[in-house]
Amino acid sequence: MSKKYTEPTRELPVSYSADVIIVGGGTAGAVAAIAAAGEGASVVIIEQFGSLGGSSTNGLVCPNMGLHIKNNPSCSYVAKQIFDRLISYGASKPNGTSMPGAFDPVVMSIVLEEMCEEAGVKIVYHTYFCDVIKNGGKIEGVIIENKAGRSVVEGKVFIDCSGDADLSVRAGAGYTKGNPETGKNQPISLRYTVGGVNLADLSSYLQEQIDKSGISYGASPSECYAAVTGLMKYTLTPVFEEAIAAGDLVEDDKLYWQMFTLPGRRDALAFNNPEFFDFVDATNPDHLSHTQVKGKKAIHRQLTFYKKYMRGFENAYIAEIASLVGIRESRNVECEYTLTAKDCVTKKKFDDKIAQTNYPIDIHGRKLDFKADGVTADDGRPYYEISFRSLVVKGFDNLLVAGRCIGAEFVAQASLRIMPTCRATGEAAGVAAAWAALNGKAARDIDGAKVRERMISLGADYVD
Ligand SMILES: Cc1cc2nc3c(=O)[nH]c(=O)nc-3n(C[C@H](O)[C@H](O)[C@H](O)COP(=O)(O)OP(=O)(O)OC[C@H]3O[C@@H](n4cnc5c(N)ncnc54)[C@H](O)[C@@H]3O)c2cc1C
Repeated sequence: MSKKYTEPTRELPVSYSADVIIVGGGTAGAVAAIAAAGEGASVVIIEQFGSLGGSSTNGLVCPNMGLHIKNNPSCSYVAKQIFDRLISYGASKPNGTSMPGAFDPVVMSIVLEEMCEEAGVKIVYHTYFCDVIKNGGKIEGVIIENKAGRSVVEGKVFIDCSGDADLSVRAGAGYTKGNPETGKNQPISLRYTVGGVNLADLSSYLQEQIDKSGISYGASPSECYAAVTGLMKYTLTPVFEEAIAAGDLVEDDKLYWQMFTLPGRRDALAFNNPEFFDFVDATNPDHLSHTQVKGKKAIHRQLTFYKKYMRGFENAYIAEIASLVGIRESRNVECEYTLTAKDCVTKKKFDDKIAQTNYPIDIHGRKLDFKADGVTADDGRPYYEISFRSLVVKGFDNLLVAGRCIGAEFVAQASLRIMPTCRATGEAAGVAAAWAALNGKAARDIDGAKVRERMISLGADYVD
C-alpha cells in the first residue's frame, strides 16, 4: 500500500458570496453567468485559467458545429448576442442562420469578459475549485485554492460547468465515465493555430492535389479547408502517406487531421489535431501532461511537414497551442433525467425541453454500433430535445450542471457535446439557478418549460 498523509483540518475564510456560484468559466459557464446575472442574481464565476470560454478559447475549438436542423436555430439568446458582437468585431461571419460557424478564439475571450462585466458578474480567475461544503443535499459553499490561499465561496445555488463534473463528483453525486464497452473516454486532442500562411498559395496547392489525386473529398481550395482521417482516402491522404514513408510524419498523424481558416485572420489556420487515442482520461493528470508534451512534439513535426510538402507555409509559424487539453468526454453526472442513445435516435421530445439538436452521434476512434436501438423513429420533426431535468443533479436541492457533463449516456453525450448545445444548457441552468436563488426554491422545483419560455422571450430560437 502506498504511503498516505492526513491533511490537517483548518478554518477557512469566506472569500466571496453570491446568489449563484458557477464552477468553470467555459463554453457553458460563461453563458450561464451572463444569463443568471440577467435575471437579477449576483453571480461569481470561478475559473482555473485567465480567460473565459474554456474549450472555445483556451482549447482553441473555434468552429461551431451546426445543429442539423433547418435554419440552425440558436436555442441560446446569449449565444446570439455573443456572435452579434463577434461579427461586429470582424471575428466571425454571418452564415444566414442564427448561429454562425467559425470565430476567432482570442476575440471570443474578450467578448465573454465584456459581456460578463456588463452583466455585473464577478470573475475569479487563476482559481481552482477543490471541494464542497454541504449539509445533506444542500451545498453551502465551494472550497477554492489560489495564490491567496484556500477559502470558501458561499452561495445559494451552484452550477457545475467544469466539463469534467468536478463539483458534482466532489459533492458526492453519481456519475458515469467513458465508453461502457471499453471503459475509455473519447480520444482527446491538442489544438493549435498557425500564422504566416499564404492562403492564396495554399488554395492553389489544394486544387493541384485534387487534380493530381482525382479525389476531391476532404479539401475545399476556396475555403483552404482540408481533412484526413484513417477511414478513407482524402485529397491529401497520398501526401500524408508519402511523408509517413519518408519518416516526416508518423501513422497517428493521418488518423485525424483537419485545418480551417479563422475569420478576421488573413494569414492563419486552425488545426483540430493532433489526436490521441490512448492516455485519454481527462481526470488523470499524467494523461493530460502526456498530451501537452507529446502534443507539442507532434505539432512541431506537423508544421515541419507543412513547410516541406505543401505550398503556402514557407513563412508559417506556430501561433498558439491550446493551454486546455481538448477533452471530448469525461464524466457525466447522474441527474433527474438521463438522456439516452435511444432518445437521440428516436428523436425524443420533452415538455420541459431547453435545447433541440440533431447533431450526429460523433464518437472518434471507433465505429458506432447501434444494435440495441436500431431504427430511427422519426416523428416528422427530425431532432431530439434535452430536458431541463438533465441539468438537475440528483440528490441535491441547489446543484445544477451544464455543458458536456450533463445527465446523459456516453453515446448521447457524443451528440450533445457541441458548443451551441452546451451554451443552451448553460443558459437554461443560469436562468433556473437565478430563479431558485431569488425565490428560495429547490432547483428541481423550477419549471423547465417556463425557463425555455423566458429564453425564447429574450431571443432564443426553437423549432415549432
Ligand atoms: C478537440 C475538440 C474538438 C471539438 N470540435 C468542436 C467543433 O468543431 N464544434 C463544436 O461545436 N464543438 C466541438 N467540440 C466540443 C465542444 O468544444 C465542447 O464539448 C464544449 O466546448 C464543452 O463545453 P463545456 O462548457 O462543457 O466545457 P469547457 O468549455 O471545456 O469549460 C470547462 C471550464 O471549466 C474550467 N474548469 C474545469 N475544472 C475546473 C476546476 N476544478 N476549477 C476551476 N475551473 C475549472 C476549465 O478551465 C474550463 O474553462 C470539440 C471538442 C474537442 C475537445
